[in-house]
Amino acid sequence: MKFAIFPRRGTWWGMNENNESYDVVVIGGGAAGLAGAVALARSRRSVLVIDSGEPRNAPASHVHNFLTRDGTPPGEIYAAGREEVATYGGQVVTGRVTALSRDGEHFRVQVSDRDVTARRLLMATGLRDELPEVPGLAARWGIDVLHCPYCHGWEVRDQRVGILATGPGAAHQALLFRQLSPHVTVLRHTAPELAPEQREQFGALGIAVVAGAVTRVEASESGLTGVSLADGSFVPLDALIVAPRMTANAELLLPLGLVPAEVRVDGQVIGTQVEAGPSGATCVPGVWVAGNLAGIQAQVITSAAAGLTAGAAINADLAAEDARRATLRRSAADLFTRTLSQVNPGVAGCRALFGGS
Ligand SMILES: Cc1cc2nc3c(=O)[nH]c(=O)nc-3n(C[C@H](O)[C@H](O)[C@H](O)COP(=O)(O)OP(=O)(O)OC[C@H]3O[C@@H](n4cnc5c(N)ncnc54)[C@H](O)[C@@H]3O)c2cc1C
Repeated sequence: MKFAIFPRRGTWWGMNENNESYDVVVIGGGAAGLAGAVALARSRRSVLVIDSGEPRNAPASHVHNFLTRDGTPPGEIYAAGREEVATYGGQVVTGRVTALSRDGEHFRVQVSDRDVTARRLLMATGLRDELPEVPGLAARWGIDVLHCPYCHGWEVRDQRVGILATGPGAAHQALLFRQLSPHVTVLRHTAPELAPEQREQFGALGIAVVAGAVTRVEASESGLTGVSLADGSFVPLDALIVAPRMTANAELLLPLGLVPAEVRVDGQVIGTQVEAGPSGATCVPGVWVAGNLAGIQAQVITSAAAGLTAGAAINADLAAEDARRATLRRSAADLFTRTLSQVNPGVAGCRALFGGS
């Protein structure tokens, strides 16, 4: 396993590269994890981010709908985020967390052959997109096999867009992409027959509907060319829209008692996410979640916002605990001083002889 420790310009007492005990370990260094780590490091918390380097949008060439960063390659954003964490004394390492457990008041985090402990955990491991199994489809994912109108919609405006219908999301996607292009075709594929109301809407909007299973996504060197159907016909397309099942990367949380919840649309499961409050606090004390792990709809900018919110909440929680501990320490010290200063009558008499009290 490779531990790439990124350079740190800032540092503070109690933290160094060999430190194995942290205020917070952040698992996942995408937008959510890195934003949370920056907030914590700027609050002078010792923070370690462990990231396996596979952000969800890695197949895409550019990030869109991120104010002031529109069109930036994903890798550039994450590299800049790692730099920002390091600037404030946080550490970022490349590695995969393989197990989590509770160890008294702390959490034990296992990364290959190394164990670290943390007072709090920020989980930002994202989700995985499980694509429909059609030959040729996965190879085009993030290039011209797409899912999100806000990520790639503008880029395919006015082009021939196919919607691969596999569930209830297809009708919704058809309407959103129709806003971007007049050339939208719904490929019925494995989805049930359209409801009469949908058929009427599609007809009114000029959305074509093609029955039959898609057997292959076809592409040339210059990109996607279309899809082949079971009856041997071919539908020419420039982009294909799919609805992946979005499964939370939450397996690490199961031993801590956190089970992801199913997300349903019209009764059909479209993914899973870990339930949390507005700050990302889960029902397990000390564990926060942010980004796509906590919500399948999160985008890059909203994942970063959720990471910041969780980071601030964790810092507040630690500050409250630090204050409680300081009070207890002072009470114990006061009690010790009072006990020492209590003198027995013999000693008092002796002191009186020497004019003391
Ligand atoms: C093809 C595609 C294009 C997209 N384009 C856009 C776009 O243009 N604009 C936009 O706003 N959104 C876009 N998105 C959505 C965007 O990718 C997500 O909203 C965003 O990545 C969520 O951020 P996150 O931090 O929650 O998760 P991620 O970015 O997925 O980061 C999670 C990190 O956790 C790490 N990790 C997971 N498990 C472990 C482990 N056990 N140990 C250590 N590390 C672990 C992963 O390696 C990863 O680096 C796109 C998505 C896809 C699929």
